[in-house]
Amino acid sequence: MYLHGTSRINEQGHLEIGGCDTTELAKTYGTPLYVYDETLMREKCRAYNQAFQESGFSYQVAYASKAFLCLEMSRLAAEENMSLDVVSGGELYTALQAEFPAERIHFHGNNKTEAELIMALQADIGCFVVDNFFELEILHDLAKEYGKIVNVLLRVTPGVEAHTHEYITTGQDDSKFGFGISSGQALQAMKIALLKPHYNVLGVHSHIGSQIFETDGFVRAIEVLGTFLESVRTETGHAMKILNLGGGFGIRYTEGDTPLPVANYVKEMTDAVREQFTKREYPLPEIWIEPGRSIVGDAGTTLYTIGSIKEVPGIRKYVAVDGGMTDNIRPALYNASYEAMLANRAYEEPEETVSIAGKCCESGDMLIWDLKLPTVASWDLLAVSCTGAYNYSMANNYNRITRPAVVFVRDAQAHVVVERETFADLVKNDRVRTKEFV
Ligand SMILES: *Cc1c(COP(=O)(O)O)cnc(C)c1O
Repeated sequence: MYLHGTSRINEQGHLEIGGCDTTELAKTYGTPLYVYDETLMREKCRAYNQAFQESGFSYQVAYASKAFLCLEMSRLAAEENMSLDVVSGGELYTALQAEFPAERIHFHGNNKTEAELIMALQADIGCFVVDNFFELEILHDLAKEYGKIVNVLLRVTPGVEAHTHEYITTGQDDSKFGFGISSGQALQAMKIALLKPHYNVLGVHSHIGSQIFETDGFVRAIEVLGTFLESVRTETGHAMKILNLGGGFGIRYTEGDTPLPVANYVKEMTDAVREQFTKREYPLPEIWIEPGRSIVGDAGTTLYTIGSIKEVPGIRKYVAVDGGMTDNIRPALYNASYEAMLANRAYEEPEETVSIAGKCCESGDMLIWDLKLPTVASWDLLAVSCTGAYNYSMANNYNRITRPAVVFVRDAQAHVVVERETFADLVKNDRVRTKEFV
């Protein structure tokens, strides 16, 4: 297993993260346990901020909170001068509870409810990313009703979609998100928005995909956005101040993944914006980006206790852990791959190939296929790396399994930032009907 951030193997042959021995963490807090390397998360935030400072552009780096959010994560992002993307009332609530500066909160989503929009208006958040014609109308009606002038970006689909190593040009802009540029809807939406007195239209937003390793998709999107903004200026006389290029920067989950350093993505993007906008004699915009996975993904490690081991003779050895698709649904959802190691015997050489199964009642509840490990025994501690993004945030209670605790580790100290759910939590919203009804 690749060791990210402060992860190392200590003198006892145990995996250590943030100076904390993972076998001790497991003893103290139980398993499954999400362990976050705080230093690594902060380094990532700083790398983005520094790269933008070097670019000379005005900028905002918004942490896409859907990757992982809790009160302490909001606080960390605020301390690291990040802005914050939220996509629901629940994420917004969490950020506000943590006193995240409202003016640095951006609200995304293709179907924000009226209640969510009102909540965000009342909180005076920094910006709404308007996704569709319905929202364009109702947000404005609400802004008027609440006596606010709101900052808006329009989410547009540039017809470029990036996946890992490649980007594809999607001619028909077949996406549930945003206003299509090629269909003319983006220009139409822009014209409508610019006429609305309770809108302060700041610019456009585009998000072209996730777990992207190359920069060519971003560069292509920037070209399309440059052309689009030029046509907006020609047709309306308005130049836009902000260009939001979304997130999607890749991380290394397994050997085959080859992300670029954070600084390279920023440099290629800012260079492309400078080139495209200078060429069009368009004022250089402020650039916003929205990394999620690349801030928290490789900072997270999940610790599991190994339980039952089943050998299917001649075929496969199933090694079951005390979690699974309830704490990491990504393998079941989209075949995501992970690396893992025995955290209590980290120096031992791999000797067998096993497959890591979860404990849920689904054959598809497999975490890792064909993983090389030292000879595994029940009660060993398995550490799965790179589980910081879209694991806790997608965790669920299937089989009425409780969600694990989350600890942040740094300088040999561990702090619980989310408690383990209890069985009482599982029934706290249940109601038993009265006898008379039955
Ligand atoms: C999910 C998402 C992000 C973050 O994507 P990552 O791949 O986690 O960096 C950013 N912006 C928008 C609009 C998103 O939907």
